[in-house]
Amino acid sequence: MTAPATRLRRGFAHGVHPNDHKVLTADLPTQRMPFVGRYVLPLNQHLGVPAKPVVTPGQRVRRGERIAEPGAFLSTSLHSPVTGWVRTIGQHRYPGGQFSKAIEIEADPYATQRLAVEPPPDWRALSLDDFASVLQDSGVVGLGGAALPAHVKYSLREGVRIRYLIINGAECEPYLTNDHRVMVEHTDRLLRGIEILQTKLGAQEAIIGIERNKPDAITALDRRIRPDQPLRVVPLRVKYPQGDSKMMIKSLLGLEVPAGLHAADLGIIMNNVGTTAAIADWFDTGLPYIDRMVTVSGPGIAQPANLIVPLGTPVREVLRFCGGLSDDTREVIMGGPMMGTPIASLDAPIIKSSSGVLAFTAAETARPREYPCIRCGRCLEACPYFLNPSRLARLAKARMYEEMKHIQIMECVECGSCTYACPSGIPIVQLIRTAKRNIRGHKRS
Ligand code: SF4
Ligand code: SF4
Repeated sequence: MTAPATRLRRGFAHGVHPNDHKVLTADLPTQRMPFVGRYVLPLNQHLGVPAKPVVTPGQRVRRGERIAEPGAFLSTSLHSPVTGWVRTIGQHRYPGGQFSKAIEIEADPYATQRLAVEPPPDWRALSLDDFASVLQDSGVVGLGGAALPAHVKYSLREGVRIRYLIINGAECEPYLTNDHRVMVEHTDRLLRGIEILQTKLGAQEAIIGIERNKPDAITALDRRIRPDQPLRVVPLRVKYPQGDSKMMIKSLLGLEVPAGLHAADLGIIMNNVGTTAAIADWFDTGLPYIDRMVTVSGPGIAQPANLIVPLGTPVREVLRFCGGLSDDTREVIMGGPMMGTPIASLDAPIIKSSSGVLAFTAAETARPREYPCIRCGRCLEACPYFLNPSRLARLAKARMYEEMKHIQIMECVECGSCTYACPSGIPIVQLIRTAKRNIRGHKRS
């Protein structure tokens, strides 16, 4: 039975309430970005092992054709977003500033850009393992977070049974509205993806969790669900980080996923709304993941927009399409303001995890001066994982990594709630992020 859309769950403890700034783009219908001349496709734009090129410089490729195959199980394919020619396979700048191996493609200005795709085998006839392996070819990744290749969640351990399929429509990061537009404009694709996944997993129930600041999305989906469908929409409190997987499970089902366990261990699989729609596209038509829905917003953007952008498009071209940056822009961020990263060069490409391109002026980027910790406890009250952020920050400054491990630093999801809450302007999450990187580095060496 469909749950009444007005029922509101209590949800998870702690968290913060930043201004969502979604009004800039929430009601703007999605536009398709025109093709440009050159595309750069990093081979490591997903979590795990980089993809391996299956093309060579000079080779002609068609839009939708596979250009790199998975490098391992924890990897996925990469497809050409345009018809054109492979120009180089070499080092290119990644959005964060580091260099990584990428395939550069020059678009053919005279080509039709018609898709060259064939549907994969009928998903109904596949075992779950074969379903996962066919999905690996799609290039689809988790679009709400770390870009985990989508097939990984469907390669279940022996004996694991899935009871709940959760569809994450929280989109709790300020400014971002592309998931919102998927739910409003692509309701059928999303529902089709849910049908495929729920059937394949044998999940008894599917639940779409949506923050209450998207009433049109809640209504659009609620209206389309049949009374006999084991699927319901649940409106959620507007609170950051509502879209974190463990927080959403707590909000929707009242369950805690213990540290070290995955949602699947509790019989739950969660997918972002964009990922779910992309999975439907792949199994119904053979469309691989080549276009990304991106919110372009922030005070520095002349014409904010929700865009469908071919992967590999330089950020500079996206900004140009949106009327350029204001003169007082100081920082451009990829992703949301809480978890996104500053873009080191506007020549960096849009990648699979680029949910947003946000431009901020001096007024928003002026860093507060850092003062000593006053032990106010606000960071503890903000942390949804019940960590001790002030202590972690202190230990990170002293490089006391062993001690940090004892107080669960690796449990930190880098949501940034502690930094947001801190009146002393201590860059807590940045300190934790650097410490985690160093701990991982020590482990490898
Ligand atoms: S310590 Fe980590 S998980 Fe906790 S609020 Fe800070 S960034 Fe988020
Ligand atoms: S919020 Fe900032 S000042 Fe307050 S206890 Fe945490 S680190 Fe210290």
